[in-house]
Amino acid sequence: MTKRKTKQLLAALLSYLAIHCVSASDRLEPGKYIPSLFDKRYSAPFTVQKLTDSSYVAFVSAHNATFYVGERGVLLIDTTLHDTAPALLSAVQSVTSLPITTVIYSHYHMDHVSGANIISENAEGNGTKINFVATEAVASQIKRHGNKIPTPTTILKNSGEEFEFEGMKVRVHVPFMGGGHSTDNSIIYLPEEKLLHYVDLIHPELLFPFFNLGLYDVAAAEKSLHEVLGMDWDYVNGGHGNIGSKKDVKELLAYLDDLKSAVRNSLSSVSFADHIHQGPGVGVYSWIRSYDEAIAEYVRQNLQNKYGHLPNFDAIIPSHATAIKEYITLY
Ligand SMILES: [Zn+2]
Repeated sequence: MTKRKTKQLLAALLSYLAIHCVSASDRLEPGKYIPSLFDKRYSAPFTVQKLTDSSYVAFVSAHNATFYVGERGVLLIDTTLHDTAPALLSAVQSVTSLPITTVIYSHYHMDHVSGANIISENAEGNGTKINFVATEAVASQIKRHGNKIPTPTTILKNSGEEFEFEGMKVRVHVPFMGGGHSTDNSIIYLPEEKLLHYVDLIHPELLFPFFNLGLYDVAAAEKSLHEVLGMDWDYVNGGHGNIGSKKDVKELLAYLDDLKSAVRNSLSSVSFADHIHQGPGVGVYSWIRSYDEAIAEYVRQNLQNKYGHLPNFDAIIPSHATAIKEYITLY
């Protein structure tokens, strides 16, 4: 092999490793993002990042789960989707041969918990009985929707209630209105690890929360973000996106302020009367849609300078502008 060819091969190998190599052995410095995570999560079956001596985050496709490796077993927080759970199992098994013995559900949204059936079946095959832990709110949602996932074997009745996993404290907070995302969303806190698992609100590196996927109560979201800032932690797993820190929470609060201010300005600049048109097939909803589009365009232009460089800016602003307009006008 020529020297040039060897060099080319080496460069290709290094670039492959940079994209695909898991960081299961090196801890991530608090406040830093995992490089090229977007590429990794959609090109490899799973990616694992070590956070502390015992805590890790697994990324499978669009979803993240947290796991803690104890002396005798593994604590898993959220199970991702039914279809991605086998990759999640592989992610855990890439770090330890210990079985998953405890699973905590953050909230009853199937994209974060439907993988529990696969995790449970796998455990049964290995002769392990998993302790499924959830708050009363999550347990009641599971029941209300027909017990499609393993029902909790430990139910936490009060917000802030603690339980122990192999001697390590795990505290589960239920923020007001589930932090605005769903009534049952929980903040799962591992104080000794300085780690939070609080999904579907903070999207580190991506910034934009998914307003159009069920975030209804902005005041509750802001309240919970301020609560989270008052807690002692270094890392947050937001369920999607990169690993976050308090900087991400502060940036999200600033973005919500900017968004509200832009929408308030749009309400005094864009007139609903200009969008009332008579004609065949036209009605109130057509007017509202046209008005919302004009507001979204106003907001997009207003925020372009500060946020236009971020991925998804053009895609997400219309839904965010409409959600905030509804919030401001209704509350
Ligand atoms: Zn959710």
